[in-house]
Amino acid sequence: MMERKKIIVAIDGFSSCGKSTLAKSLARALGYIYIDSGAMYRAVTLYALRNQWIRNGQLDTKAILDGLSLISVSFSFDPATERNTTYMNGENIEEEIRQLHVSEYVSQVSAIKEVRLAMVRLQQEMGKDKGVVMDGRDIGTVVFPGAELKIFMTADPEIRALRRFRELTLKGISVSMEEIRENIRARDFMDQNREESPLRKAEDAIILDNSFLTPEEQLLWALEKANETSM
Ligand code: C5P
Repeated sequence: MMERKKIIVAIDGFSSCGKSTLAKSLARALGYIYIDSGAMYRAVTLYALRNQWIRNGQLDTKAILDGLSLISVSFSFDPATERNTTYMNGENIEEEIRQLHVSEYVSQVSAIKEVRLAMVRLQQEMGKDKGVVMDGRDIGTVVFPGAELKIFMTADPEIRALRRFRELTLKGISVSMEEIRENIRARDFMDQNREESPLRKAEDAIILDNSFLTPEEQLLWALEKANETSM
């Protein structure tokens, strides 16, 4: 049988489009590593919140930058929960970084140029041997402009809000649809309009609108694209 070459799959798109659902299942099907770049920005945000470098809605950018070297983010697959888990300095922060208090500030933290430079460097290092699926906002444009397969995901905003609402309420987190709608709207706006690496579709990315696709359908679609690309 012909050996397939290892590729990089870059998945970018709007907030709460199901990028990580697709990226995780695609990585599993291909036997690749999954890297959640958003979790890295969320970890920095959590660290900043805990240290009160974000207070009354204001970011202390200098403190965040001085503190960057103290934050080490890593990922591992937890066989007990069968989930990809994010660790910060050895602590499991997977649950906490998904909460709304982190989501509220993450787009401001991720707009800081030096934060992006540091995260992009780490992401490039993680993908240097290929065989990775990475999701985020700038993976196909900045982190891996040479990625062999680039997918740009989008979905109807109301459907996205409903999915995120279900996900958080299932975890027992109490939020209203209105709060979620507003958070998604604000993050999309900030991500598209920031100066540093704004969210853009790479010219060579394929658009995937999954408003009316099941997770299985979108996986089959992506798997076909990945198989075509890695021949
Ligand atoms: O993917 P997720 O929604 O968890 O990402 C959280 C936030 O991190 C995004 O709203 C965006 O502001 C930022 N982000 C980014 N670049 C990435 C990944 C995430 O700016 N590659």
